[in-house]
This record gives sequence, C-alpha cells and structure tokens, in this order.
Amino acid sequence: MPTNPLVALDRDHLIHPVVNYRAHEQRGVTILESGHGAYLRDTQGTELLDAFSGLWCVNVGYGQQSVVQAAAEQMAKLPYATGYFHYGSEPAIRLAARLVELAPASLRHVYFTLGGSDANDSAIRFITHYYNSTGRPQKKHFISIERGYHGSSSQSAGLTALAVFHQNFDLPLPSQHKIPSPYPYRNPAGSDADAIIRASVAALRAKVQELGRDNVAAFFCEPIQGSGGVIVPPKGWLKAMGDACRELDILFVVDEVITGFGRTGPMFACEAEGAEPDLMMLAKGLTAGYAPMGAVLMSDRVYQGIADGVAPGVPVGHGYTYSAHPVSAAIGLEVLRLYTEGGLLANGIAQAPLFEQGLRDLLEHPLVGDARSRGLLGALELVADKSTKARFDPALKLHERIADAAYRNQVIFRAFGDNVLGFAPALCYTQADFELLFARLKKTLDEVL
Ligand code: PLP
Repeated sequence: MPTNPLVALDRDHLIHPVVNYRAHEQRGVTILESGHGAYLRDTQGTELLDAFSGLWCVNVGYGQQSVVQAAAEQMAKLPYATGYFHYGSEPAIRLAARLVELAPASLRHVYFTLGGSDANDSAIRFITHYYNSTGRPQKKHFISIERGYHGSSSQSAGLTALAVFHQNFDLPLPSQHKIPSPYPYRNPAGSDADAIIRASVAALRAKVQELGRDNVAAFFCEPIQGSGGVIVPPKGWLKAMGDACRELDILFVVDEVITGFGRTGPMFACEAEGAEPDLMMLAKGLTAGYAPMGAVLMSDRVYQGIADGVAPGVPVGHGYTYSAHPVSAAIGLEVLRLYTEGGLLANGIAQAPLFEQGLRDLLEHPLVGDARSRGLLGALELVADKSTKARFDPALKLHERIADAAYRNQVIFRAFGDNVLGFAPALCYTQADFELLFARLKKTLDEVL
C-alpha cells in the first residue's frame, strides 16, 4: 500500500505529546479521520472500537449532531468574546451557573480554563493568592499522591507523580510533596478498606506534621487515579481525606478532570462520597472533547479571600485569552444537556454492571492479576505471576505489543507502561458495544500470551 504523505509530514514537523520522539519517527502516526458513536475510522480504512473515549474525554461519543449544531450556531453568532475585564458571553455565564447547580454545595464560583493542566495551575495560583491575601503567606507547600496525574503544565506537572513528567524538567518543585497511593492491589496496609483509608489519612497527617501545618497550603487528589493506572480507592476514602484536610487546616482540592461528568456513575465522584472540596478542577467531559475547556470551581471562602485581598481597583492578575470561550461554553451546555435530559448519565449507570462483569470475567485469563472499576472507568492489571503479583520485565515491552495487538483487533484502550490496561468507554455504549469490546479484548490478550 502506498504510504500516506501525511506520515512523512507528521514525522518531520509535528511534535506529539508524551511519546519517545525517536520511536515515533520510526513507527509513524496513525491518522484518525472520522468517528461515530463509540467507533473511530483511520486513514487506512480501519474501524476501531474506542474503549477510551479519546483520552478519557469523549464521554458522549462521536458525531453528536446537537453538539455540532450548538457550536456552529455560536460560531455564526459570536465566535469569540473575551472574558477579560468586564466582558462576558451568555453561554459562559449560563455554563458557570449550571456547574454550580450540579457541583457539591461547597462550590459557588467558576473560573474557566482551556483544559485540565491549566485548571490545576490556576488552582495553585488561586490558593497562593488566597493565603497571601488572608495573612498566611507562609502556607506554600502542596501535597499530592504518588501515581497521581494533574497535568503537564509547569506547576501541575510537579503535582503529577509520574517519573516521565519530571525527568529532565527539574521537577517536582521544592514546595511539592507526595504521600503514597491508596493502591488496593499493592497496598502495604493490605486490601481491607478501613486499613487503606487509615493508612492514607495517617500518611497525610505525618506529611503535614513534617512540613508544619502552618506551611502547608493544600492537598490535591483524584477521586480515582487515572493515568497512574486507574487506582480505585475504597468507598469512603475521599470523604476521609477531606475530613483530614479540615482537621489539619489545609485546603482540600479534588481533581475531577477524569472522574467528572458521569464517568464513575454520578455527575461527580464527590457526590457519591459526600465530599465537599474547597476547590475542584474539571475538563475533558465538560465539553466531551468537542472543544478545549476546563474549569476551577471554588468555595465562597476562597473566592472572598482573594476578592478582599487586592486593593480597590487592582485586578487579580490571572487570565487567558481563551478563558470562558463562548463556543466551548455553548458546547459545554449542550453536552451537559445530553448527560442529563439526553439520558447519557442514566445509560452509563445502567451499563456499568456489564462493564464491571466483563472486566471481572477476565480475571480467569492467565495474564490478568487484578480487575477494578467504578462506573465506566476501569482497568486490568497484567502480572507475570498471579500469586506474587510480580510485574513483567519492562524489557519485554509487553504494553507496546498489547497496543499493537489491540489495533489489529480493532479496539483502542490505554496500555500503560507497567502493564495496566485502562478503559473509559463512552456513556453512550450499548450492550452490543460491550460484547464486542470484551471479545476483541480477550483476543488481544490471547495473542500476546
Ligand atoms: N488532571 C487529571 C486527573 C487528568 O487526567 C488530566 C489529563 O489526563 C489532567 C488533569 C490534565 O488535563 P489536560 O490534558 O486537559 O491539560
């Protein structure tokens, strides 16, 4: 087959996020061309079942015409309106108000960003401003969790605790600290839920004590760690961490960039846990990937502290040209309507047992050591030895072989380097889609055995 000239152009000019540049030059790009529902088509004509919603974001599936229409109408009417200074646009105002309606009651104010990394960066900046504004400028240290992912912008990458985001980037910053992951499959405290929760709370307390509580600003966490390998803490963990933050007098900051918008069942994972964060970051499912957008939601206390912390007439100097972009906001409003009135949240909840069962059935497979999920977010962990949970030798590059076999079997999921396979099917998945997913997945695993 003649090579697509785009492959050479890509190799010569386009830098891809999070690849080995030399390996990419060798391997070449797979060019995705169109999508419908849960399916993608590439320029080779291969139809692929997407079990990862793009990058955990296309929660409504591809080709939702009402979203396309909402974007087109807003573009025709007003493609851009600055959110700077005292200007605004109707979709952005309505979207902020809708998010406050849906979010935990503690959150009253919304700041729009372009995605999740800058939402986390913005949260750090707001928190720093808040403590400087309220007379506690020494509270400058941030705690997050090993295996956590909060983005790859300059500060969020330091909250992230995955080695490749630090190597050669001089991160983390001296103000950024980690506590162990509540990893049920490999937790030194064992697999008992209460023991895992107790261990996490104790680790947070110990870290705050080590740094001095007057020096610690905030604790950041994901309700379920996504890029770190879909690590699902026991129920009650998130609430317990929030309670500990209150007791320790540090801000409780929840990154729902992946877990938001029905990914784990309810609109937000905080809802199921009764957790009340001081700040919460959103992105991905907010616009379902149809346009870039993220958000930081904050409590009245933080907002008022910042607002009172500047002299009259002096602006709070934080903003992006595309903050509160009206086209993204119009998309966000329609995407939210699809989750609620459009029935997608309800479908996600209805399909989740099928997903969970399909993953659990694969525990029979010789490669699968653990199967875990909540809602439509799940993972399989592959191990060389089920009894010792020993990992495969990285030199085998099993995850690369799996990704190649998955493509041959026309299914896309995420094969992480430590041989965790991550899944985040769209909320529009049907029973037939799940049957196809598990048939193709089993065949993929059999082929690499
Ligand atoms: N936070 C979490 C939990 C994420 O999973 C991600 C991206 O995967 C981010 C933040 C960063 O978001 P973005 O890639 O939109 O900058």
